[in-house]
Amino acid sequence: QKITIAIDGYSSTGKSTVAKQLADYLGYVYVDSGAMYRAVTLYAMQNGIISKGNFDIEKLEESLPSIHLKFKKEASWNKAHIFLNGKDVENEIRNLEVSEFVSPIATIHEVRVKLVAQQQQMGLEKGVVMDGRDIGTVVFPNAELKIFMNASAPERAQRRYKELMDRGDTVTFNDILKNIQERDHIDTTREDSPLRKAADAIEIDNSEMNLQDQFHVVLQLAKD
Ligand code: C5P
Repeated sequence: QKITIAIDGYSSTGKSTVAKQLADYLGYVYVDSGAMYRAVTLYAMQNGIISKGNFDIEKLEESLPSIHLKFKKEASWNKAHIFLNGKDVENEIRNLEVSEFVSPIATIHEVRVKLVAQQQQMGLEKGVVMDGRDIGTVVFPNAELKIFMNASAPERAQRRYKELMDRGDTVTFNDILKNIQERDHIDTTREDSPLRKAADAIEIDNSEMNLQDQFHVVLQLAKD
């Protein structure tokens, strides 16, 4: 019998890696909710809604009906890519500029209302693993399994640094650490903050775990 699995936690804790592994293993659909917030942010950057660090919130709210997000997967890809108004932006949404603006964009109420509704729609069929910040609390409060992932900020920055270097981005470790700390701050301190651990979520700190250990811990929980 298929279930819904919610994986929440801080940025760069490896949520998406474990969520993806779990979905593949169980034959479930994996949904990266952060990609949706990132795609909306990219749209805002491309349409003069964010310029010189200023946000035109009203304009973004007005534009929401013309922002169409879709996940599509081709056989040769190892995961679904996100499409923004028909264009594959999976790669573009991972750059540091989008990372810098995404948390403020994600605190805009209308943005969350739109994306949460679309996420709930995707979860109507059981057999979904979704990762994010508010999946166990807001999107799927009735998920059968909720996991909350954590790891130390320097450890997360190190992982993210390696990821961006591997794709050839020019970034410094310190910029990444700063970005992670800023996002943590926004994600946890604002009163409308998305990041909260559901009362019934199981917390995993993976600072000292490798991917394989982590996968086995989570898989065991999914089987119980
Ligand atoms: O998961 P990822 O780090 O790609 O998400 C990018 C940002 O999107 C987060 O730092 C957070 O501000 C926001 N987000 C959110 N709610 C989610 C997923 C992501 O607010 N469910």
